[in-house]
Amino acid sequence: MTATLEPRHEAPRSETLNPFDIAVRQFNIAADHLDLDAGVRKVLANPRRALVVSIPVRMDDGRIEVFEGYRVQHNVARGPAKGGVRYHPAVTLDEVKALASWMTWKCAVVNIPFGGGKGGVICDPSKMSPGELERMSRRYFSEIIQMVGPEKDIPAPDVNTNPQVMAWFMDTYSMTLGYTALGVVTGKPLSIGGSQGRNEATARGVLFTTMEAMKRLNMQMAGATIAIQGFGNVGGNSAKLFHEAAAKVIAVSDVTGAIANKNGLDIPKLFEYVGRERRVTGFPEAEEISNEQLLELQCDVLIPAALENQITLQNVERVNAKIVAEAANGPTTPDADVTLRDRGILVIPDVLCNAGGVTVSYFEWVQGLYSFFWDEPMINQQLEKIMVKAYNDVHDSAQKYKVDLRTGAQILAVGRVAEASAIRGLFP
Ligand code: NAD
Repeated sequence: MTATLEPRHEAPRSETLNPFDIAVRQFNIAADHLDLDAGVRKVLANPRRALVVSIPVRMDDGRIEVFEGYRVQHNVARGPAKGGVRYHPAVTLDEVKALASWMTWKCAVVNIPFGGGKGGVICDPSKMSPGELERMSRRYFSEIIQMVGPEKDIPAPDVNTNPQVMAWFMDTYSMTLGYTALGVVTGKPLSIGGSQGRNEATARGVLFTTMEAMKRLNMQMAGATIAIQGFGNVGGNSAKLFHEAAAKVIAVSDVTGAIANKNGLDIPKLFEYVGRERRVTGFPEAEEISNEQLLELQCDVLIPAALENQITLQNVERVNAKIVAEAANGPTTPDADVTLRDRGILVIPDVLCNAGGVTVSYFEWVQGLYSFFWDEPMINQQLEKIMVKAYNDVHDSAQKYKVDLRTGAQILAVGRVAEASAIRGLFP
Protein backbone atom coordinates (compact mmCIF):
# COMPACT_ATOMS: atom_id res chain seq x y z
CA MET A 1 0.00 0.00 0.00
CA THR A 2 1.39 3.34 -0.97
CA ALA A 3 -1.66 5.53 -0.32
CA THR A 4 -1.74 7.88 2.66
CA LEU A 5 -3.85 6.22 5.32
CA GLU A 6 -6.50 7.85 7.45
CA PRO A 7 -5.40 9.09 10.89
CA ARG A 8 -5.44 6.35 13.45
CA HIS A 9 -8.36 6.20 15.93
CA GLU A 10 -7.19 5.53 19.49
CA ALA A 11 -7.74 1.85 20.23
CA PRO A 12 -9.66 1.20 23.45
CA ARG A 13 -7.99 -1.00 26.07
CA SER A 14 -10.76 -3.60 26.00
CA GLU A 15 -12.63 -4.74 22.94
CA THR A 16 -15.72 -6.70 21.99
CA LEU A 17 -15.20 -10.25 20.78
CA ASN A 18 -18.84 -10.66 19.70
CA PRO A 19 -18.46 -11.53 15.99
CA PHE A 20 -21.73 -9.88 14.92
CA ASP A 21 -20.83 -6.60 16.70
CA ILE A 22 -17.48 -6.78 14.88
CA ALA A 23 -19.15 -7.41 11.51
CA VAL A 24 -21.52 -4.46 12.02
CA ARG A 25 -18.62 -2.22 13.05
CA GLN A 26 -16.71 -3.13 9.87
CA PHE A 27 -19.87 -2.56 7.81
CA ASN A 28 -20.46 0.88 9.38
CA ILE A 29 -16.95 2.04 8.46
CA ALA A 30 -17.67 1.21 4.80
CA ALA A 31 -21.18 2.71 4.99
CA ASP A 32 -19.68 5.98 6.33
CA HIS A 33 -17.25 6.17 3.41
CA LEU A 34 -20.08 5.52 0.95
CA ASP A 35 -22.33 7.99 2.74
CA LEU A 36 -25.01 5.31 2.66
CA ASP A 37 -28.63 6.35 3.20
CA ALA A 38 -29.74 5.65 6.80
CA GLY A 39 -32.56 3.33 5.69
CA VAL A 40 -30.39 1.27 3.35
CA ARG A 41 -27.79 1.08 6.12
CA LYS A 42 -30.36 -0.48 8.48
CA VAL A 43 -31.42 -3.01 5.81
CA LEU A 44 -27.86 -4.09 4.97
CA ALA A 45 -26.60 -4.28 8.55
CA ASN A 46 -29.17 -6.86 9.64
CA PRO A 47 -29.75 -10.44 8.47
CA ARG A 48 -32.84 -10.99 6.38
CA ARG A 49 -33.85 -14.24 8.07
CA ALA A 50 -32.60 -16.36 10.98
CA LEU A 51 -34.03 -19.76 11.80
CA VAL A 52 -33.35 -21.55 15.11
CA VAL A 53 -34.06 -25.28 15.15
CA SER A 54 -34.03 -28.09 17.72
CA ILE A 55 -32.47 -31.28 16.40
CA PRO A 56 -33.48 -34.43 18.31
CA VAL A 57 -31.09 -37.32 17.68
CA ARG A 58 -31.21 -40.94 18.86
CA MET A 59 -27.68 -41.56 20.19
CA ASP A 60 -25.97 -44.97 19.93
CA ASP A 61 -26.74 -45.80 23.58
CA GLY A 62 -30.49 -45.30 22.99
CA ARG A 63 -30.72 -41.88 24.68
CA ILE A 64 -32.30 -38.91 22.85
CA GLU A 65 -30.08 -35.82 22.67
CA VAL A 66 -31.39 -32.45 21.41
CA PHE A 67 -28.92 -30.17 19.58
CA GLU A 68 -29.54 -26.51 18.69
CA GLY A 69 -28.92 -25.40 15.09
CA TYR A 70 -29.19 -22.22 13.03
CA ARG A 71 -29.48 -21.08 9.42
CA VAL A 72 -29.16 -17.38 8.67
CA GLN A 73 -29.64 -15.57 5.37
CA HIS A 74 -28.02 -12.17 5.58
CA ASN A 75 -28.80 -10.74 2.15
CA VAL A 76 -30.08 -12.08 -1.19
CA ALA A 77 -30.16 -8.89 -3.29
CA ARG A 78 -27.55 -10.26 -5.76
CA GLY A 79 -28.63 -13.93 -5.82
CA PRO A 80 -29.37 -16.96 -3.62
CA ALA A 81 -27.81 -17.09 -0.15
CA LYS A 82 -24.51 -18.98 -0.03
CA GLY A 83 -22.44 -20.12 2.92
CA GLY A 84 -21.14 -23.05 4.93
CA VAL A 85 -22.42 -24.98 7.92
CA ARG A 86 -20.23 -25.15 11.03
CA TYR A 87 -20.33 -27.89 13.70
CA HIS A 88 -18.65 -26.67 16.91
CA PRO A 89 -19.43 -26.51 20.66
CA ALA A 90 -18.89 -22.72 20.66
CA VAL A 91 -21.34 -21.89 17.81
CA THR A 92 -23.74 -19.03 18.69
CA LEU A 93 -26.49 -17.28 16.73
CA ASP A 94 -24.40 -14.08 16.71
CA GLU A 95 -21.44 -15.97 15.26
CA VAL A 96 -23.63 -17.42 12.48
CA LYS A 97 -25.10 -13.94 11.78
CA ALA A 98 -21.58 -12.51 11.46
CA LEU A 99 -20.40 -15.33 9.20
CA ALA A 100 -23.53 -14.89 7.02
CA SER A 101 -22.88 -11.16 6.59
CA TRP A 102 -19.20 -11.77 5.76
CA MET A 103 -20.47 -14.19 3.06
CA THR A 104 -22.59 -11.40 1.53
CA TRP A 105 -19.56 -9.12 1.31
CA LYS A 106 -17.26 -11.94 0.13
CA CYS A 107 -19.51 -12.93 -2.79
CA ALA A 108 -19.76 -9.26 -3.76
CA VAL A 109 -15.96 -8.80 -3.57
CA VAL A 110 -15.38 -11.62 -6.07
CA ASN A 111 -18.49 -10.47 -7.98
CA ILE A 112 -20.33 -13.80 -8.14
CA PRO A 113 -24.17 -13.80 -8.20
CA PHE A 114 -24.79 -14.93 -4.63
CA GLY A 115 -25.93 -13.36 -1.38
CA GLY A 116 -24.73 -14.44 2.04
CA GLY A 117 -25.87 -17.21 4.36
CA LYS A 118 -24.42 -19.46 7.05
CA GLY A 119 -25.45 -22.30 9.31
CA GLY A 120 -24.24 -23.88 12.50
CA VAL A 121 -25.00 -26.60 15.02
CA ILE A 122 -23.81 -26.56 18.64
CA CYS A 123 -22.16 -29.96 18.95
CA ASP A 124 -18.77 -31.63 19.36
CA PRO A 125 -18.36 -33.97 16.37
CA SER A 126 -15.12 -35.40 17.84
CA LYS A 127 -17.28 -37.04 20.52
CA MET A 128 -19.93 -38.43 18.12
CA SER A 129 -20.00 -41.71 16.17
CA PRO A 130 -20.40 -41.63 12.36
CA GLY A 131 -24.00 -42.86 12.80
CA GLU A 132 -24.85 -40.10 15.30
CA LEU A 133 -23.26 -37.50 13.02
CA GLU A 134 -25.28 -38.74 10.04
CA ARG A 135 -28.59 -38.72 11.95
CA MET A 136 -27.88 -35.22 13.31
CA SER A 137 -26.88 -33.90 9.87
CA ARG A 138 -29.98 -35.31 8.16
CA ARG A 139 -32.36 -34.03 10.85
CA TYR A 140 -30.71 -30.56 10.83
CA PHE A 141 -31.10 -30.31 7.06
CA SER A 142 -34.67 -31.53 7.24
CA GLU A 143 -35.44 -28.83 9.84
CA ILE A 144 -34.06 -26.03 7.63
CA ILE A 145 -35.42 -27.51 4.37
CA GLN A 146 -37.94 -24.74 3.75
CA MET A 147 -35.09 -22.20 3.62
CA VAL A 148 -32.64 -24.05 1.33
CA GLY A 149 -32.67 -24.98 -2.36
CA PRO A 150 -30.63 -24.42 -5.54
CA GLU A 151 -32.44 -21.11 -6.20
CA LYS A 152 -32.76 -20.08 -2.54
CA ASP A 153 -29.85 -20.90 -0.28
CA ILE A 154 -26.92 -23.24 -0.96
CA PRO A 155 -24.91 -24.55 2.02
CA ALA A 156 -21.30 -25.81 1.88
CA PRO A 157 -18.63 -27.14 4.27
CA ASP A 158 -17.12 -25.06 7.08
CA VAL A 159 -15.35 -25.98 10.33
CA ASN A 160 -15.92 -29.70 11.15
CA THR A 161 -18.14 -30.40 8.13
CA ASN A 162 -16.86 -32.06 4.96
CA PRO A 163 -17.93 -33.63 1.62
CA GLN A 164 -19.54 -36.60 3.44
CA VAL A 165 -21.79 -34.25 5.44
CA MET A 166 -22.67 -32.44 2.18
CA ALA A 167 -23.63 -35.82 0.63
CA TRP A 168 -26.03 -36.48 3.56
CA PHE A 169 -27.52 -32.96 3.15
CA MET A 170 -27.98 -33.44 -0.61
CA ASP A 171 -29.54 -36.88 -0.14
CA THR A 172 -31.93 -35.65 2.58
CA TYR A 173 -33.14 -32.81 0.33
CA SER A 174 -33.39 -35.06 -2.74
CA MET A 175 -35.30 -37.79 -0.88
CA THR A 176 -37.80 -35.24 0.39
CA LEU A 177 -38.36 -33.82 -3.10
CA GLY A 178 -38.34 -37.22 -4.82
CA TYR A 179 -35.57 -36.43 -7.31
CA THR A 180 -31.84 -35.71 -7.21
CA ALA A 181 -31.04 -32.01 -6.82
CA LEU A 182 -27.28 -31.48 -7.30
CA GLY A 183 -27.43 -27.70 -6.84
CA VAL A 184 -28.66 -27.66 -3.24
CA VAL A 185 -25.20 -27.88 -1.66
CA THR A 186 -21.60 -27.46 -2.82
CA GLY A 187 -18.44 -29.12 -1.56
CA LYS A 188 -19.97 -32.50 -2.47
CA PRO A 189 -17.86 -35.60 -3.24
CA LEU A 190 -16.85 -35.86 -6.92
CA SER A 191 -19.00 -38.99 -7.40
CA ILE A 192 -22.22 -37.01 -6.79
CA GLY A 193 -21.61 -33.77 -8.64
CA GLY A 194 -18.72 -32.25 -6.71
CA SER A 195 -16.27 -30.04 -8.57
CA GLN A 196 -12.66 -30.73 -9.41
CA GLY A 197 -10.49 -28.44 -7.32
CA ARG A 198 -13.14 -27.59 -4.67
CA ASN A 199 -11.24 -29.27 -1.85
CA GLU A 200 -8.14 -27.07 -2.30
CA ALA A 201 -10.04 -24.02 -3.64
CA THR A 202 -9.99 -21.88 -0.48
CA ALA A 203 -6.28 -22.53 0.04
CA ARG A 204 -5.54 -21.89 -3.64
CA GLY A 205 -7.28 -18.51 -3.30
CA VAL A 206 -5.12 -17.78 -0.23
CA LEU A 207 -2.04 -18.56 -2.36
CA PHE A 208 -3.18 -16.37 -5.30
CA THR A 209 -4.01 -13.38 -3.09
CA THR A 210 -0.76 -13.75 -1.12
CA MET A 211 1.17 -13.80 -4.41
CA GLU A 212 -0.56 -10.55 -5.43
CA ALA A 213 0.31 -8.95 -2.08
CA MET A 214 3.93 -10.13 -2.35
CA LYS A 215 4.27 -8.67 -5.84
CA ARG A 216 3.32 -5.25 -4.50
CA LEU A 217 5.73 -5.56 -1.55
CA ASN A 218 8.58 -6.83 -3.76
CA MET A 219 8.69 -10.12 -1.89
CA GLN A 220 9.51 -13.53 -3.40
CA MET A 221 7.46 -16.67 -2.81
CA ALA A 222 10.51 -18.93 -3.17
CA GLY A 223 11.96 -19.38 0.30
CA ALA A 224 9.37 -17.13 1.99
CA THR A 225 8.67 -18.27 5.56
CA ILE A 226 5.06 -19.22 6.32
CA ALA A 227 3.32 -19.98 9.65
CA ILE A 228 -0.15 -21.52 9.53
CA GLN A 229 -2.69 -21.78 12.35
CA GLY A 230 -5.11 -24.70 11.76
CA PHE A 231 -4.49 -27.84 9.73
CA GLY A 232 -7.96 -28.65 8.40
CA ASN A 233 -9.31 -28.10 4.90
CA VAL A 234 -7.95 -24.58 4.59
CA GLY A 235 -4.80 -24.72 6.76
CA GLY A 236 -3.67 -28.17 5.58
CA ASN A 237 -4.19 -27.39 1.90
CA SER A 238 -2.47 -24.01 2.36
CA ALA A 239 0.58 -25.85 3.77
CA LYS A 240 0.54 -28.15 0.74
CA LEU A 241 0.13 -25.41 -1.89
CA PHE A 242 2.62 -22.93 -0.35
CA HIS A 243 5.13 -25.79 -0.05
CA GLU A 244 4.56 -26.68 -3.73
CA ALA A 245 5.07 -23.00 -4.60
CA ALA A 246 8.59 -23.27 -3.05
CA ALA A 247 7.79 -21.35 0.14
CA LYS A 248 9.11 -22.63 3.48
CA VAL A 249 6.31 -23.64 5.86
CA ILE A 250 8.04 -23.16 9.22
CA ALA A 251 5.12 -23.86 11.60
CA VAL A 252 1.63 -25.31 11.68
CA SER A 253 -0.91 -25.98 14.43
CA ASP A 254 -4.19 -27.68 15.19
CA VAL A 255 -6.41 -27.94 18.22
CA THR A 256 -3.81 -30.22 19.94
CA GLY A 257 -0.91 -27.72 19.70
CA ALA A 258 1.71 -26.33 17.32
CA ILE A 259 4.97 -27.54 15.76
CA ALA A 260 7.83 -25.58 14.19
CA ASN A 261 11.02 -26.12 12.23
CA LYS A 262 12.91 -23.01 11.16
CA ASN A 263 14.41 -24.87 8.18
CA GLY A 264 10.93 -25.70 6.88
CA LEU A 265 8.66 -28.63 7.71
CA ASP A 266 8.65 -31.63 5.38
CA ILE A 267 5.02 -31.19 4.31
CA PRO A 268 4.54 -34.50 2.40
CA LYS A 269 5.89 -36.38 5.45
CA LEU A 270 3.69 -34.30 7.77
CA PHE A 271 0.62 -35.27 5.69
CA GLU A 272 1.51 -38.96 6.05
CA TYR A 273 1.91 -38.42 9.81
CA VAL A 274 -1.40 -36.54 10.19
CA GLY A 275 -3.15 -39.19 8.07
CA ARG A 276 -2.06 -41.79 10.63
CA GLU A 277 -2.20 -39.86 13.92
CA ARG A 278 -5.01 -37.33 13.20
CA ARG A 279 -2.95 -34.50 14.81
CA VAL A 280 0.16 -32.42 14.01
CA THR A 281 1.72 -32.64 17.48
CA GLY A 282 4.28 -35.39 18.00
CA PHE A 283 5.66 -35.02 14.44
CA PRO A 284 9.29 -36.15 14.87
CA GLU A 285 11.11 -33.57 12.74
CA ALA A 286 9.87 -30.49 14.58
CA GLU A 287 9.93 -28.66 17.87
CA GLU A 288 6.67 -28.33 19.85
CA ILE A 289 5.56 -24.78 20.57
CA SER A 290 2.30 -23.36 21.93
CA ASN A 291 -0.57 -22.14 19.76
CA GLU A 292 0.10 -18.62 21.10
CA GLN A 293 3.78 -18.80 20.09
CA LEU A 294 2.87 -19.78 16.53
CA LEU A 295 1.00 -16.48 16.07
CA GLU A 296 4.08 -14.58 17.26
CA LEU A 297 6.74 -16.29 15.16
CA GLN A 298 8.96 -14.20 12.95
CA CYS A 299 7.85 -15.02 9.40
CA ASP A 300 6.97 -13.48 6.07
CA VAL A 301 3.35 -14.66 6.01
CA LEU A 302 1.12 -15.60 8.94
CA ILE A 303 -1.97 -17.55 7.85
CA PRO A 304 -4.65 -17.87 10.54
CA ALA A 305 -6.83 -20.75 9.24
CA ALA A 306 -8.85 -21.80 12.31
CA LEU A 307 -11.41 -19.61 14.09
CA GLU A 308 -12.36 -15.97 14.86
CA ASN A 309 -10.62 -13.59 17.28
CA GLN A 310 -7.09 -15.02 17.16
CA ILE A 311 -5.24 -11.70 16.69
CA THR A 312 -6.56 -9.36 19.38
CA LEU A 313 -5.35 -6.46 21.54
CA GLN A 314 -3.80 -9.14 23.79
CA ASN A 315 -1.21 -10.37 21.24
CA VAL A 316 -1.19 -7.97 18.28
CA GLU A 317 1.97 -6.14 19.37
CA ARG A 318 3.83 -9.48 19.23
CA VAL A 319 2.69 -10.51 15.72
CA ASN A 320 5.94 -10.66 13.77
CA ALA A 321 4.90 -11.21 10.14
CA LYS A 322 5.08 -8.98 7.06
CA ILE A 323 1.70 -10.19 5.74
CA VAL A 324 -1.31 -11.61 7.57
CA ALA A 325 -3.33 -13.67 5.07
CA GLU A 326 -6.75 -14.19 6.65
CA ALA A 327 -7.69 -17.70 5.51
CA ALA A 328 -10.12 -17.98 8.45
CA ASN A 329 -13.17 -15.77 8.80
CA GLY A 330 -12.83 -12.97 11.33
CA PRO A 331 -9.42 -13.92 12.80
CA THR A 332 -8.46 -10.29 13.56
CA THR A 333 -10.45 -7.96 15.82
CA PRO A 334 -11.06 -4.40 14.54
CA ASP A 335 -8.79 -2.88 17.22
CA ALA A 336 -5.98 -5.33 16.46
CA ASP A 337 -6.49 -4.48 12.80
CA VAL A 338 -5.71 -0.80 13.53
CA THR A 339 -2.50 -1.81 15.32
CA LEU A 340 -1.39 -4.11 12.48
CA ARG A 341 -1.97 -1.26 10.04
CA ASP A 342 0.02 1.17 12.19
CA ARG A 343 2.85 -1.36 12.45
CA GLY A 344 3.01 -1.63 8.64
CA ILE A 345 1.81 -5.24 8.52
CA LEU A 346 -0.31 -5.88 5.43
CA VAL A 347 -3.58 -7.70 6.15
CA ILE A 348 -5.26 -9.53 3.26
CA PRO A 349 -8.82 -9.43 4.62
CA ASP A 350 -10.88 -12.61 4.97
CA VAL A 351 -13.60 -11.53 2.51
CA LEU A 352 -10.91 -11.43 -0.19
CA CYS A 353 -8.29 -13.90 1.02
CA ASN A 354 -10.54 -16.93 1.58
CA ALA A 355 -13.02 -16.25 -1.25
CA GLY A 356 -11.52 -19.02 -3.42
CA GLY A 357 -13.78 -21.56 -1.68
CA VAL A 358 -17.04 -19.83 -2.51
CA THR A 359 -15.78 -19.08 -6.02
CA VAL A 360 -15.27 -22.77 -6.84
CA SER A 361 -18.55 -23.49 -5.02
CA TYR A 362 -20.12 -21.15 -7.58
CA PHE A 363 -18.45 -23.18 -10.36
CA GLU A 364 -19.79 -26.39 -8.76
CA TRP A 365 -23.33 -24.96 -8.59
CA VAL A 366 -23.18 -23.86 -12.24
CA GLN A 367 -21.81 -27.27 -13.32
CA GLY A 368 -24.58 -29.05 -11.35
CA LEU A 369 -27.33 -26.92 -12.94
CA TYR A 370 -25.91 -27.56 -16.44
CA SER A 371 -24.92 -31.20 -15.73
CA PHE A 372 -21.70 -30.43 -17.57
CA PHE A 373 -18.44 -30.72 -15.70
CA TRP A 374 -15.12 -28.92 -16.24
CA ASP A 375 -11.62 -30.34 -15.80
CA GLU A 376 -9.28 -29.15 -13.05
CA PRO A 377 -7.03 -26.89 -15.16
CA MET A 378 -10.14 -25.02 -16.32
CA ILE A 379 -11.35 -24.60 -12.71
CA ASN A 380 -7.96 -23.36 -11.47
CA GLN A 381 -7.55 -20.96 -14.40
CA GLN A 382 -10.99 -19.40 -13.87
CA LEU A 383 -10.33 -19.23 -10.11
CA GLU A 384 -7.03 -17.42 -10.64
CA LYS A 385 -8.66 -14.94 -13.00
CA ILE A 386 -11.39 -14.09 -10.48
CA MET A 387 -9.04 -13.89 -7.46
CA VAL A 388 -6.48 -11.67 -9.22
CA LYS A 389 -9.22 -9.34 -10.48
CA ALA A 390 -10.76 -9.20 -6.99
CA TYR A 391 -7.37 -8.35 -5.46
CA ASN A 392 -6.91 -5.55 -7.99
CA ASP A 393 -10.45 -4.22 -7.42
CA VAL A 394 -9.89 -4.20 -3.65
CA HIS A 395 -6.48 -2.57 -4.03
CA ASP A 396 -7.96 0.16 -6.27
CA SER A 397 -10.84 0.76 -3.87
CA ALA A 398 -8.36 1.07 -0.96
CA GLN A 399 -6.24 3.54 -2.94
CA LYS A 400 -9.28 5.58 -3.97
CA TYR A 401 -10.60 5.98 -0.41
CA LYS A 402 -7.12 6.07 1.20
CA VAL A 403 -7.91 3.16 3.49
CA ASP A 404 -6.49 -0.31 4.23
CA LEU A 405 -7.43 -3.39 2.20
CA ARG A 406 -10.17 -4.53 4.61
CA THR A 407 -12.01 -1.23 4.41
CA GLY A 408 -11.34 -1.11 0.66
CA ALA A 409 -12.92 -4.57 0.29
CA GLN A 410 -15.90 -3.62 2.47
CA ILE A 411 -16.50 -0.42 0.51
CA LEU A 412 -16.38 -2.34 -2.78
CA ALA A 413 -18.75 -5.03 -1.50
CA VAL A 414 -21.21 -2.81 0.34
CA GLY A 415 -21.35 -0.53 -2.72
CA ARG A 416 -22.20 -3.47 -5.02
CA VAL A 417 -24.89 -4.85 -2.68
CA ALA A 418 -26.36 -1.37 -2.07
CA GLU A 419 -26.57 -0.81 -5.84
CA ALA A 420 -28.39 -4.13 -6.34
CA SER A 421 -30.79 -3.31 -3.49
CA ALA A 422 -31.49 0.18 -4.81
CA ILE A 423 -32.22 -0.95 -8.36
CA ARG A 424 -34.57 -3.69 -7.11
CA GLY A 425 -36.36 -1.24 -4.79
CA LEU A 426 -38.03 -1.90 -1.47
CA PHE A 427 -40.83 -4.51 -1.44
CA PRO A 428 -43.81 -3.91 -1.34
P1 NAD B 1 -11.63 -27.57 9.46
O1 NAD B 1 -12.59 -28.07 10.46
O2 NAD B 1 -11.34 -28.38 8.26
O3 NAD B 1 -10.22 -27.23 10.18
C1 NAD B 1 -10.11 -26.40 11.31
C2 NAD B 1 -8.69 -26.58 11.85
O4 NAD B 1 -8.45 -25.61 12.88
C3 NAD B 1 -8.44 -27.95 12.49
O5 NAD B 1 -7.13 -28.36 12.15
C4 NAD B 1 -8.52 -27.66 13.98
O6 NAD B 1 -7.80 -28.59 14.76
C5 NAD B 1 -7.89 -26.28 14.00
N1 NAD B 1 -8.17 -25.48 15.19
C6 NAD B 1 -9.34 -25.26 15.82
N2 NAD B 1 -9.15 -24.45 16.88
C7 NAD B 1 -7.82 -24.15 16.90
C8 NAD B 1 -7.02 -23.36 17.75
N3 NAD B 1 -7.54 -22.70 18.78
N4 NAD B 1 -5.69 -23.27 17.48
C9 NAD B 1 -5.15 -23.94 16.44
N5 NAD B 1 -5.87 -24.68 15.59
C10 NAD B 1 -7.20 -24.80 15.83
O7 NAD B 1 -12.16 -26.10 9.04
P2 NAD B 1 -11.84 -25.29 7.70
O8 NAD B 1 -12.91 -25.59 6.72
O9 NAD B 1 -10.42 -25.47 7.36
O10 NAD B 1 -12.09 -23.80 8.19
C11 NAD B 1 -11.09 -23.01 8.84
C12 NAD B 1 -11.44 -21.54 8.73
O11 NAD B 1 -11.52 -21.19 7.34
C13 NAD B 1 -12.78 -21.13 9.33
O12 NAD B 1 -12.67 -19.81 9.82
C14 NAD B 1 -13.71 -21.16 8.15
O13 NAD B 1 -14.87 -20.34 8.33
C15 NAD B 1 -12.78 -20.60 7.08
N6 NAD B 1 -13.18 -20.89 5.70
C16 NAD B 1 -13.35 -22.17 5.28
C17 NAD B 1 -13.68 -22.41 3.95
C18 NAD B 1 -13.81 -23.80 3.37
O14 NAD B 1 -13.94 -23.92 2.13
N7 NAD B 1 -13.74 -24.85 4.14
C19 NAD B 1 -13.88 -21.34 3.06
C20 NAD B 1 -13.69 -20.04 3.54
C21 NAD B 1 -13.33 -19.84 4.85
